[in-house]
Formats: sequence, structure tokens, C-alpha cells
Amino acid sequence: MEKEVIIKIDQLTKKYGEFEAVKGISFEVYQGEIFGLLGPNGAGKSTTLEIIETLREKTSGKVMVDGMDLDKSPDEIKKIIGVQLQTSGYYPNLNLTELLMLFGGLYNRDIKPSEFLAKVNLTDKAKAKYKELSGGQKQRFSIATTLINQPKIIFLDEPTTGLDPQARRNLWDLIRSIRSSGTTVIITTHYMDEAEVLCDRVAIIDSGKIIAKDSPDRLIDNLVATGFERPKEVKKANLEDVFIQLTGKALREE
Ligand code: ADP
Ligand code: MG
Repeated sequence: MEKEVIIKIDQLTKKYGEFEAVKGISFEVYQGEIFGLLGPNGAGKSTTLEIIETLREKTSGKVMVDGMDLDKSPDEIKKIIGVQLQTSGYYPNLNLTELLMLFGGLYNRDIKPSEFLAKVNLTDKAKAKYKELSGGQKQRFSIATTLINQPKIIFLDEPTTGLDPQARRNLWDLIRSIRSSGTTVIITTHYMDEAEVLCDRVAIIDSGKIIAKDSPDRLIDNLVATGFERPKEVKKANLEDVFIQLTGKALREE
């Protein structure tokens, strides 16, 4: 079956004054996939994401989201996307239930906070304040807020940075379950192991340019086909596998 394109970026550029942070990038995201924008710090990942999210002005190029032109229909685009806010945006004195009600109000949706807390496995934190949550719980809560308007696409900007291995795996499961429900996910990361296990397709961005795009599998196969070999004999497990094997997958955040 032909995959349907839900986001199409064509020759996108962004200048901050004289500095060109995004230098004419083009890529497509298919409906229902987890698409990764990979790159080192400063590569232009957040800038690109925020432009698609309608939160930042582009300098030039064309952005189409679900058939809508960003230049013509930004408000229509806002209605079908879920955006993670910077965490400092949460009112400190409200609990999670109250925060979700507030978000529901912003989107003009009559929501049941308990349903959203259940989706991200935070039912027992309904009365907790955001600042009382662990790092992984904070990320799960902010993902819950992206789902309130039942978006077709959600954007996650480095959601696993700073999390321990258990919380990271837990978040991967959550992101996969969001994909299973039919939502397209765009995620940025600089962790290549994460992209390899989580993303259906990736674009690698460096200094504002896309230098590769494909599925992780094909990118690896292409490299191997050039005769590339790892300098050291590769073991069948790594230290993180040892760590997870020893400590278990259960979350440690209560
Ligand atoms: P990434 O998310 O990949 O780390 P960013 O998109 O945040 O990269 O930033 C890309 C480049 O643009 C960096 O060199 C950064 O310093 C610069 N940059 C980002 N935001 C601004 C801004 N508001 N003003 C000026 N330069 C910026
Ligand atoms: Mg960034």
C-alpha cells in the first residue's frame, strides 16, 4: 500500500540574523510513523520542529501539514497537532488533574483528566503537582498534554534527554502505543541507539543540512555495503543491556 505523506518540507531555511541555522532542508513524514530528526546539539532540530509547529517563523521554503500550507492555514494546522510545551510553562500550584482540565479548556475540549493520566500511566499521581514528579513522570505528563486535542501528529523534542535507562524504555513504549493508536510522531534525539530501536525512518541533520534520510536499517545496511567494519569485535550485548538485566525494567520513580 502506498504510504500517505502527512508532512512535506521543501527547501526550508531559517536565518537568525546573518546566521543560517537551517539551510534548505527537504523531507517527508508518512502518516502513522515515528519519524526521527537526528543530529548533534545546534544542528537545527528544534528550529525545524518549531517552524512546523507554527511557533517560529521560517525564512523561506514550503511546509505542508496534512495537506495544509503553513503560510495559509497555520490556525488549521494548530488544531491537528500536539505540541510539548517547555516544562516551565506549567502552573506550579495546580495538580495534574487541574492542569489537564486547564489544557482541556485551552483546546475547548471537555476532557476526562483520568483518561489521559491512565494513557501515560500516571493514575496514582492525579493529585500530585508537576514539580513533585520524577523526570520520566514529567515527560509522560507532558506527552499526555500533547494528546488532549486528539491530534493527528505529535511533536516531541528530545523527550528522553536526562532520563535513566528504565524511564527511557518506558517512554519508548508510550511513544509506540501512541503510534499504534494511529498518531504520527515526530521526535528529535541525539541518541542513536534510541533512534535505531524507535524510529521507522530518520533524517540526520548536521549544521542545518540533511545529510541522510531513510530507515535506520537501510542506513546501516548501506554503510556495511561500503565495506565498513567496526574497529573492535562487536559483542552481542552492551553495558546498558547488562545494567537493565541486573536492575530490571521496572520504573524507579516513586
Ligand atoms: P538543536 O535543536 O538541533 O540543538 P537549534 O535548532 O536549537 O538546534 O539551534 C540551531 C542553531 O541556531 C544553533 O546554532 C543555535 O545556537 C541557533 N539558534 C537557535 N535559536 C536561536 C535564536 N533564537 N537566535 C539566534 N540563534 C539561535
Ligand atoms: Mg533542540
